[in-house]
Amino acid sequence: MSLPSMPHGDRRSPRGRLANLWFGTPLWRRILLGLALGAATGLILGEAAVDLKWIGDVFVRLIRMLVVPLVFVTVVAGVAAMSDPARLGSVGLRTIFLYFSLMLVASALGLTLGALVQPGLGVDLTGVSPQPLAEAQGLSETLLGIIPLNPVAALAAGDILAVIFFAVLIGIGILTVGEEAAPLKAGFDAAGAVMMRIVYFVMELAPFGVFALIAWVMGTSGPAAFVSVFKLGVCVLLGALIQTLIVHGAVLRLLARVPVLPFFRDIADAMVVAFSTSSSSATLPVAMRVAQKNMGVSPAVASAVLPIGVTLSMDGTALYVGLLATFSAQVFGVQLAMADYLAIMAVTTLVAMGTAPVPSASLFLLAAVLSVIGLGPEQTALIVGFILPFDRPLDMIRTVPNCTSDLSVAVAVARWEGELDMETYLAKPVE
Ligand code: ASP
Repeated sequence: MSLPSMPHGDRRSPRGRLANLWFGTPLWRRILLGLALGAATGLILGEAAVDLKWIGDVFVRLIRMLVVPLVFVTVVAGVAAMSDPARLGSVGLRTIFLYFSLMLVASALGLTLGALVQPGLGVDLTGVSPQPLAEAQGLSETLLGIIPLNPVAALAAGDILAVIFFAVLIGIGILTVGEEAAPLKAGFDAAGAVMMRIVYFVMELAPFGVFALIAWVMGTSGPAAFVSVFKLGVCVLLGALIQTLIVHGAVLRLLARVPVLPFFRDIADAMVVAFSTSSSSATLPVAMRVAQKNMGVSPAVASAVLPIGVTLSMDGTALYVGLLATFSAQVFGVQLAMADYLAIMAVTTLVAMGTAPVPSASLFLLAAVLSVIGLGPEQTALIVGFILPFDRPLDMIRTVPNCTSDLSVAVAVARWEGELDMETYLAKPVE
């Protein structure tokens, strides 16, 4: 995609030079700068950093605004770009299989870390005010809900799985109608390109948005928040690092057979946005962009794999929920047997799949997992009440593997399908 030339101003004036320096610096570096300055500002301002939050909210709203139209047009265009409808099945099966396996690994990792580090030992819940829990939807209801009764209502409600379902059908329709539907296909291709261009514009605001969001978190929950949940925080951080660097690294190295380092350089923007917004859905537009522009994943594969991943595949969440299950068992003195661990793994994976890709979502689905080990709604509400005030930093950490899993699977599937441009993957991101 050729990008518009930015009006950088008169090169000789100080303002022009500053603009050149700014726009000439790769975006991921500017975002990291925003992150570092935001952390420092939050520490200095303390609670007053809340006044900066609106800047972060503007950024998050802009980027979330793009999710539904982006998913809709790119999934239609992606499916319509597949030369053969049968390939959709192979892409879909490989994707779902990988997502599911990675979440099982993540929840096993969470359980192992929880059993080894024992973050729940010595935690006292007296004085904690219980939090109301979300009604967990039954599996059959979730599956039925994928078929929208009214596609327009699904679009309006931002019901991503239902939107994907409808978009896939339109894509298959275009593919099978052939020549007659060519104008429609061209229209969706063009709409996809326009949406990606808007993502590019919005991402120029990312350094400021990230700055404000990090300043707000640091100022309001700060490092002090970690003290009460220190051991749990260490487990989440360690688990997220292992899942991202080792497990996703293995997907790239062993399954996709590509070098690992370019991956992390290419997806840096997406990782920082995931970290600062704590929302995989807000990260989807930038994930689509880095997958195609920086890593050379074909639009067809990126648009088939990533939107599904954002809604279904949540490694960080599976890790966290598994960890919280052992944490809660330790707090309430429940002894876990091997069969309990296996049951928790299975339920955790299903719960992670049903978690909405927004901040703190998984915490409210904990009841389903804790009921497996015999803890009731009152006890779950106490655990949620205890964790909630500290959840934001933990959420930031777990949202990163939620996104890296989608991107590593996109690379693996693209590689298997012959749809990964290795030259782009290996090259440094252009801007
Ligand atoms: N914040 C996570 C996400 O958006 C979901 C969660 O684990 O609460 O991916």
